[in-house]
Amino acid sequence: MQIKADLHVHTTYSKDSLITPKDLVYYSKKRGLDAVAVTDHNYIDGAYKIAKETDFLIIPGMEVSSNDGHIVALNVKELIPRGLSAEETVERIHNAGGVAIACHPYVLFKGALKESVCNTFDAIEIINARAFPFKRSVNKAIQTAERLNLSRVGGTDAHYGPQIGYGYTVIEAAEPTVEAISEAIIQGHCQPFGRPVPISLNFMLNLQRLKRMGKT
Ligand SMILES: [Zn+2]
Ligand SMILES: [Zn+2]
Repeated sequence: MQIKADLHVHTTYSKDSLITPKDLVYYSKKRGLDAVAVTDHNYIDGAYKIAKETDFLIIPGMEVSSNDGHIVALNVKELIPRGLSAEETVERIHNAGGVAIACHPYVLFKGALKESVCNTFDAIEIINARAFPFKRSVNKAIQTAERLNLSRVGGTDAHYGPQIGYGYTVIEAAEPTVEAISEAIIQGHCQPFGRPVPISLNFMLNLQRLKRMGKT
């Protein structure tokens, strides 16, 4: 069966995101997704908490700040520590039963893995709907996927509800479970889709962040 999932979303368990658990489910359904991955920065407990509280299919994960750049870990059962090398981080993810994804590897800011992407990764994020510059990031990621023979995924890196679903992955999974989805991604039975988040929605995110700062 085909499962449409945004594999990169931050909730309020990430300090820089405005997406409450309620928003997460609301916008995921609104955008026609079948599943959504919760990938908060260096934190895993929130994802499992949200998964318990909803019937919507949540793929628990986290985004690990490795010393070489950001790495999305899906379906890990424990916290993966930050500050390790990319190689070590991927190994920890695999030991924790998870899927290691090189996310936004070629964006122009700190956090891009660039040449640290290697063939021990399970997948590479071809589409990151908030990547800048978008086209260049997509093209470079495709080249790396070809060179290293990595599975290809897409996600939004959403930090604001209406951004959810601009990037997504269609996964050919045996059944709608986190395990089957993880296995399908590892096997490469998936395809990335999406388009850049409109500038207006990034503007709204920054505006809401400023408003929130004003309140505290
Ligand atoms: Zn990141
Ligand atoms: Zn992210």
